[in-house]
Amino acid sequence: MHIDVVSIFPEYLAPLRMSLLGKAMTDGIIDFATHDLRDFTHDRHRTVDAPPYGGGAGMVMKPEPWGEALDHLRGAGDGSRPTLLVPTPAGHRFSQAMARDLARREWLIFACGRYEGIDQRVIDDAAGWAEVIPFSLGDYVLNGGEVASMAVIEAVGRLIPGVVGNPESLVEESHSDGLLEYPSYTKPRVWRDREVPEILLSGDHAKIAAWRAEQSRRRTAVTRPDLLHSSQVLAPDDLAEGS
Ligand code: SAM
Repeated sequence: MHIDVVSIFPEYLAPLRMSLLGKAMTDGIIDFATHDLRDFTHDRHRTVDAPPYGGGAGMVMKPEPWGEALDHLRGAGDGSRPTLLVPTPAGHRFSQAMARDLARREWLIFACGRYEGIDQRVIDDAAGWAEVIPFSLGDYVLNGGEVASMAVIEAVGRLIPGVVGNPESLVEESHSDGLLEYPSYTKPRVWRDREVPEILLSGDHAKIAAWRAEQSRRRTAVTRPDLLHSSQVLAPDDLAEGS
């Protein structure tokens, strides 16, 4: 998969080159490149923003550098249609389902806004040559699109075959089946007088699976009841403290 990120702070993305994603880049599974938006300006101050038409607070990112940057990426491509991901609090809420969908694509471009965001004409113009997906990381406002893009790149990258060593670990985790994952325990068996639940030491795989499924359902009911299907009824003690 090719991933391009355009930003006025390309160095912000550096941590993505660490750990599992970094190895996937070294191994050639992910071809990752960052691009400085200011390289596509032509004035002495490398200006990327201007006041908004219609008035109001803040500055808006100018269309010309964005247009040139995206044209540059498009020209360097192989003619295939990329997916242009635009982080914005006004976008579709990012989810594991979106991550799964994006992980099957060949080429992702992230356009990281700053200030009050990017001139809308850039997004409208790009829809002529890319699939444009405005996405939001959640219902809050960040200073820029870099952190949101990093979160998406990590969530998508780990789903690409070969990136995570044991693909089994992608199956049994939160949001893979619509529920949150059950609590996990490891050695030692007793820590600060707290014991590992007895069932996990029983060696009875069927009972362990049933216990985990119940824990998973309970945790979802308490923390994220919105995730439960309407057909699943909450048990009265689901909402009790420490249940
Ligand atoms: N004026 C914009 C609004 O109210 O919708 C917010 C601009 S925000 C200060 C600057 C940039 O941060 C946005 O262009 C976007 O790239 C990024 N950003 C902020 N919050 C975000 C979120 N929840 N999800 C994704 N990107 C976000």
